[in-house]
Order: sequence, then C-alpha cells, then structure tokens
Amino acid sequence: MNILGEFNCFGTCLKLSSFAPFVGLFVVISIALLAASLMLKRPKQRLITFVSAQVAVVLAIAATFYLMNCSYMLTFYLYLAYVLISTVLIFGVVRYYDRVLIGRLDAKPAGSMMKWAQEFVDRLVSAKLYYFDSAVPRAFAAGKSIFISIGLLEILNKDELKAVLAHEAWHIRNNSRTPYLKQLALMTFSSPKESELEYMADCFAAEIAGGEALSSARNKLDKVFI
Ligand SMILES: [Zn+2]
Repeated sequence: MNILGEFNCFGTCLKLSSFAPFVGLFVVISIALLAASLMLKRPKQRLITFVSAQVAVVLAIAATFYLMNCSYMLTFYLYLAYVLISTVLIFGVVRYYDRVLIGRLDAKPAGSMMKWAQEFVDRLVSAKLYYFDSAVPRAFAAGKSIFISIGLLEILNKDELKAVLAHEAWHIRNNSRTPYLKQLALMTFSSPKESELEYMADCFAAEIAGGEALSSARNKLDKVFI
C-alpha cells in the first residue's frame, strides 16, 4: 500500500471509530502542552509540560492502535517523526534560547556602547554581551549571551560591573563544559546544587574582579544577578 493510501485508510478508520474524539482530544492536548513547554521560561516547568505532551501523544497513539485496521507501520512512523521533531524543537529552543531573548527583550549588543565591557567578556569566554531597556537592575546568561539591564548599568561602577560579568561568564563556561542532561538536571531538580553553582560563579568573579567589587555589587543588587 502506498503512503497516500495508508493516510486515506488512516482517515477512514478514524472517521468510523467511536474513539476518534479521544484521539483528537489527545492530539490537541499534546500540541497545546508542547507549545506551552516552548514558551515557558523555567526549566522545571518546561520539562514537566514537555513530558506531559509526550504522554498525551503516547495515549493518542495507543488509542489509534486500538481502533486501527490499517497498517500499523504508518502510526509507528508518524510517532517516530513526532518524537524526532518535538525533541529537536525543545532541545533547540533550550540551546538557542538567547536568540529568543534578544528578540523578546529587544536587546542590543553592548559592544557599540561599552567596548571595554565586551572586550572584558571576550577575555573570559566566547559570548556576546547585550543590554536591554529595563529600570530593574538585572543580569543573566543564556546560551552564548550575557544580558544586562540599563538599570544595572546605572547603579554599578566599573569594577562592580566586571564582577557581575565575570559571574555570568563563569555560568556560560560551566554550561558548555557540563553535559547537557546533567546541566538540565542541575537546573531542574536540585536547588542545593543550584546555589552551589552560584557560589562557584561568585568565587570565579571574586578571583577575576576582586572580592570587594563582588561584594559591593552583591550588596547593591542582592539576588538580581543570577
Ligand atoms: Zn549566577
């Protein structure tokens, strides 16, 4: 049977079956969950919605298997294709999340405004520095990018900013050295390890920019750079 014929048979089976609404429901739920997992920021929520989406798809597949009189192989291939695409999508988004953030925050390369800051980052890690328009002082790293808000630039002096940049640079260096799954596990499940990571990033920042600069940056900002 050719592939078009199989699709036709697939459609007819679904139409004739009383399970069709369930299959439809599971498909809609799984698409919604997958979309949610792409939108969510927190790794833990993203992982939970992603796993739920996969479960919904498995239920849809199981229901389809139950009602099928056609080729089972097509169902299997469709499922394989889905798993492949959704996995590439979700891992790709995590990997290239900085691209998404640049658009969302309307972030601009900081190199044009503060050449020294980009050069300082270049010495520590291969990453691009961006600033974005927000009065809230914030700094964070994603993918291969470091983001700092204008509010942060307004309250920090040069040495304090260096400490913050070194801290974020450490995260990027550490991320690229940690295997992906371990990284995801660290981000997702264990808050003690997360604070351990923050501590190690601070140690590195103190080494690079000096302990005094780091603690005065911490005093000014406390918990707004992560
Ligand atoms: Zn941090």
